[in-house]
Amino acid sequence: MPVAPYIALIAHDQKKDEMAAFARRNEAVLRRHSIVATGTTGGRVLEACPSLDVVRMKSGPLGGDQQIGALIATGDVSLLIFLVDPLSALPHDVDVKALTRLATVYDIPMALNIATAEILVRSLIATEPTN
Ligand code: PGA
Repeated sequence: MPVAPYIALIAHDQKKDEMAAFARRNEAVLRRHSIVATGTTGGRVLEACPSLDVVRMKSGPLGGDQQIGALIATGDVSLLIFLVDPLSALPHDVDVKALTRLATVYDIPMALNIATAEILVRSLIATEPTN
């Protein structure tokens, strides 16, 4: 049974394959959580792992990142994985800054790359009840 608050997943276009592979590798643990994602990222994650409970917001450039920011502000996000593309100039680059700021304000664990995301997921496993 998934539990709130949400794990938030966002990936820039060049990172969506990595996000889908990450979700597949960690499907068993992610299945025990509610997930919120930006539109396209959520679609890719669901395609890779149809068993997951994924709420899809608008696409990031159309406000989906900001919707996830609002959920952080209301205490509804426990962990944020935002796979950013460091090699492309993006018109919605400011969203990374805005979410980094909110995750810092509300002290939410935030991963900007896969290496950190894997560590955060392992920490979820470590803190889960064993029954
Ligand atoms: P998307 O948004 O998942 O809808 O592509 C992610 C982003 O912020 O680029």
